[in-house]
Amino acid sequence: MALIVQKYGGTSVGSLDRIRNVASRIKKLRDAGHQVVAVVSAMSGVTNKLIAMAEELNNDPSERELDVLLATGEQQSIALVSMALHELDVDAVSVTGRQAGIVTTGSHTRGKIDQINPDLMHKYLDEGNVVICAGFQGVREDGMIHTLGRGGSDLSAIAVAAALKADTCQILTDVDGVYTCDPRVVKDARKMPEVSYDEMLEMASSGTKVMQSRSVEFAKKYGVIFEVRSSLNDNPGTIVTEEHDNMESVVIRGVSIERSQARLTITGIPDEPGMSASILSCLAEAEINIDMIISNIAHDGLARHSVTMHSNDLGKAQAALKPVIAKLGDKAGFETEAGIAKLSCVGIGMRSHSGVAAKMFEALGEAGINIGIITTSEIKIAVTIDEEQIEEAARVVHAAFDLDKAPQA
Ligand code: ADP
Ligand code: ASP
Ligand code: MG
Repeated sequence: MALIVQKYGGTSVGSLDRIRNVASRIKKLRDAGHQVVAVVSAMSGVTNKLIAMAEELNNDPSERELDVLLATGEQQSIALVSMALHELDVDAVSVTGRQAGIVTTGSHTRGKIDQINPDLMHKYLDEGNVVICAGFQGVREDGMIHTLGRGGSDLSAIAVAAALKADTCQILTDVDGVYTCDPRVVKDARKMPEVSYDEMLEMASSGTKVMQSRSVEFAKKYGVIFEVRSSLNDNPGTIVTEEHDNMESVVIRGVSIERSQARLTITGIPDEPGMSASILSCLAEAEINIDMIISNIAHDGLARHSVTMHSNDLGKAQAALKPVIAKLGDKAGFETEAGIAKLSCVGIGMRSHSGVAAKMFEALGEAGINIGIITTSEIKIAVTIDEEQIEEAARVVHAAFDLDKAPQA
């Protein structure tokens, strides 16, 4: 008998038929003698619909109330999955984040899991129940309902698996696993049998939305090995785990794309110590997530700082920076560029292979695709390009590294 934690995403519970499918998959595991905890997302589209309603009523809805509202999406689906299991004569109990003992910290709508007290889940499991746990939510120490950021059910599942010391953790979704690029964009993308935490983390944080990046960070920290697989078939998926020696033989593991990015460039900055700090801390205070950062000195001896962010944050960033710009002097100002996207190549093999950037830029150049900002890490090269060309760019780079052919380690 194994203790299996599964996570079913929005599309996997997106209709009553899909919920019946989830129930019958869980029943099979129960019939084979396993204990099951299923962490469930809201039915697909529900979270977006709730956000749209909130925004229709109020331009800037209270984040506390958003948490109260959004948590209802998962509450619907846990009860429905539980009822579908009862229909199959499987004992099942649903638990909300609070009942599952998920204690969170941080600002509303961006909660982090602090700890999980799984006593009630253990009790229900010991009594022979399947436990259906609401993803994406927890409760703060002050008793407030709290959500974990978009895609947060992945984090709930990994954290629940860690807290229960589960034997297996599976993320069930609408694709067969993690591919070398989004299979909706690159048709000949290949499923990877295995990927390291670091690669998955870099891919997730650069737009590969099959996993929420914070959930991968959590899995790495607590050593939770998990598998991404389909809720619609029994094909083996992708195992996300510690890196091992064979993995470095693959130079590029995958290509990620992230749309709806924007660039904000602050110009005319005096070239003095402390300037970058004042700009970035003001953006941090406004809770704007900055992605790429570059700085250079223009021919007039003044500095320019460019940062990228989600395009939704551009207005907020400009407003937050106004007072700082005023203090920087007459020559300071800013430029903005929306309609850009980010393309990233990720692979731990980059540590031991050179020439990756050259090959990537050559492929883009030959396809007539212009590159904006470039940043690198030990295992990633990322560039901004015009959003209209992002899909073509992904295909070109994917082909340049033979990702459609190369055997994956
Ligand atoms: P869920 O609702 O199950 O959480 P998501 O929509 O969050 O599912 O994630 C699954 C989607 O992620 C897939 O439908 C796919 O289009 C997208 N995706 C993006 N990049 C990749 C990739 N490299 N491999 C697999 N899926 C990817
Ligand atoms: N329902 C939430 C969302 O749509 C959480 C999740 O599905 O993981 O972001
Ligand atoms: Mg998801």
